[in-house]
Amino acid sequence: MHSFDDVNRMMRSLNLKYSRETLSTLLSHAGDQELSHLQWTGMLLGYELDERERHRRATNRRQAGIQVEKHLDDFDYRHQTTITKKQVQQLLDFQFIDHRKNLIFIGPPGVGKTHLATGIALKALEQGYKVWFTTALALTEDLEMAEIKGRLKARIAQLCRYDLVVIDELGYLPMNRQNNHNLFQLIHALYEYRSVILTTNKDFNRWGDFFVDENVAVPIVDRLIHHAQLFMLGGDSYRLKQKMAAGVPGGVGQN
Ligand code: ADP
Ligand code: MG
Repeated sequence: MHSFDDVNRMMRSLNLKYSRETLSTLLSHAGDQELSHLQWTGMLLGYELDERERHRRATNRRQAGIQVEKHLDDFDYRHQTTITKKQVQQLLDFQFIDHRKNLIFIGPPGVGKTHLATGIALKALEQGYKVWFTTALALTEDLEMAEIKGRLKARIAQLCRYDLVVIDELGYLPMNRQNNHNLFQLIHALYEYRSVILTTNKDFNRWGDFFVDENVAVPIVDRLIHHAQLFMLGGDSYRLKQKMAAGVPGGVGQN
């Protein structure tokens, strides 16, 4: 005969963390609900699996690095008419992630690029994908730090574990040669292996402006756009519109 403690120990060995923690409750359910052995075993294992998945998603959400929550439900397609709700909805089957394709949002400041990228990233997390959200600036610093420590390869390998990497706001600052090179290494590693969402204020033919080295700009663009859906966003800045509506004159930020 096995005691409660024996079972508890065996569940610990089997790493049945969540159902072990609530074993007494689960056992009392068996009595209260007159469950068969099979039903009870199913309930126990189902509980364990559900809790694991719930915790996995919560961890993914924490690690995603999304500081400002922007939801697709709050996106106003009457203001932003260069992309339709249908086009965005179609992305939410996440075939683009399953097929390792990229999304690129190009447009001037304030037209909703970051909002859309964040909204899509949050939906992907809900669906259980691992996502990492970063700005081009933070990414550049991140890779530079890794490179200085001689850990660039390891860092890139780490980033390649995400299903989707969002690089926000490429193009606001020029990069030096080493940064160009680091970014190329990352894009090369992600190419046809993981998905990238990129937002940028510059059209491809202007990418030379912020990549010091044309020899690097071309292969980066090439890899990014090879399997990408491009969205050219236009229209007026939403920030500007809000300022105008509030009757506050002047001063809109750069991005
Ligand atoms: P971009 O990244 O293109 O510079 P953002 O996505 O950061 O622009 O948008 C600027 C601000 O305006 C954000 O607060 C964003 O939530 C809001 N915004 C932009 N476009 C829309 C829109 N169509 N509907 C609702 N909010 C929007
Ligand atoms: Mg932005």
